[in-house]
Amino acid sequence: MCKVFLLAVYCLSALAANNLPPLADQQLAREIYKQMVESQSGFTTGATTPIAEAVAARLKAEGFPASDIFVGGAIPRKANIVVRYHGTGAHKPILLLAHIDVVEAKREDWSTDPFQFIEKDGYFYGRGTSDDKAQAAVWVANLIRFKREGFKPDRDLIVALTADEEGGGPYNGVEWLLKNKRSLIQSEFALNEGARGELVNGNRVSHDIGVAEKTYADFRFESRNKGGHSSRPISDNAIYHLAGALYRLSSYSFPFQLNQVTKAYFQQTAKLETGDVAADYAKIAEGSEAAMQRVAKTNAGMNSMMRTTCVATQLEGGHAPNALPQLAAANVNCRILPDDSVEHVLQVLKQVAADDQVVVTIKQEEGKAPASPMREDIMKAFNKVTDTMWPGVITVPAMATGASDGRYLREAGIPTYGVQGFFNDRDDVRAHGRDERMLVLSFYEGQTFLYEFVKVLSTLP
Ligand SMILES: [Zn+2]
Repeated sequence: MCKVFLLAVYCLSALAANNLPPLADQQLAREIYKQMVESQSGFTTGATTPIAEAVAARLKAEGFPASDIFVGGAIPRKANIVVRYHGTGAHKPILLLAHIDVVEAKREDWSTDPFQFIEKDGYFYGRGTSDDKAQAAVWVANLIRFKREGFKPDRDLIVALTADEEGGGPYNGVEWLLKNKRSLIQSEFALNEGARGELVNGNRVSHDIGVAEKTYADFRFESRNKGGHSSRPISDNAIYHLAGALYRLSSYSFPFQLNQVTKAYFQQTAKLETGDVAADYAKIAEGSEAAMQRVAKTNAGMNSMMRTTCVATQLEGGHAPNALPQLAAANVNCRILPDDSVEHVLQVLKQVAADDQVVVTIKQEEGKAPASPMREDIMKAFNKVTDTMWPGVITVPAMATGASDGRYLREAGIPTYGVQGFFNDRDDVRAHGRDERMLVLSFYEGQTFLYEFVKVLSTLP
């Protein structure tokens, strides 16, 4: 592992010199980043308000008027911050989004204190270093840099740092802002987490831009029965009804359904592979069902990119070892393609269950988020800055199989793009896990990337 790690640092160093922001801006970003990571904002035990207030104070000290800064949220402990940097108004604003809450982290699980910002062996360690305080810190540092440089964008730039993305609530963050302070974040499109660059053995292989997300939904399969004494079993048994339905679900697959984003994804990813895999990805982009079948069988991630998936994740049932069950139930978790719908999936699940003793209902759904359009100006800017900073690195439009706060914006008609400019080892993702970290050089390069990218998007011809 050490070799891989050393190689990662080495490979990045080789290119780093041209891609770093001025030293003063690096220091500023690092200072904000450190302050954010060391402010405990775990979504159950922590608070985001101290971070929001610290950012507000910093911005005011830089000359941002108080009237352009909003701090508030669903509850006093969990504030969001929204700040507006005024442009000429020739175009509608861009929303620059990041969340400042984090997944909980326990000291005993980690090698270092998760709420201490530690720079070690070429990495920044600490909870949130990757998800999502790097982006939050960079948005703030870059906004200050724009102001110091007197940059006049052709549209307003709005930075929103939000609470409760990782859970908690009641509803807060982007959802709360949309319902209560929509005018503050109303924008033509938004940039958010959700995609980044990928390193394999320390080499940059691709730079992803998130254009779509699957929708999350939980369904309940439930079978009820009058029960009875287990010494006199009958075939009408709640557990057997449920088991039968789940067994049929286990052998069911939703049809393949590619969209504009996943087609482009396979087209680009084919260039990163060799041999049969490369050939199959290219064929998938052209619509070959046979290639989809082959890839789906061996690669769970790719399978999930090509179809809606549903899987049993939890079970309950029976009330005593010596009684016929009166209840058997299962949670079925689905990740639904942007073009599909929760209602349609419900109908399919009922058909698959194929038993009127098994009732299928929607337990939790998180709204429908359409894919964002692959706008030429955004894609061009993304390719251009990527190409300038990291020549030869392929850009890949991606659909996340998980969900981010981008879903609320997309649902509300604000197209959202996952863009970070940070690179991460594809096989060592630590977000939400122990010893979360960010490559030091990648952090500063991401700072440059987001600075340049936003600049291009806000100085359109
Ligand atoms: Zn996140």
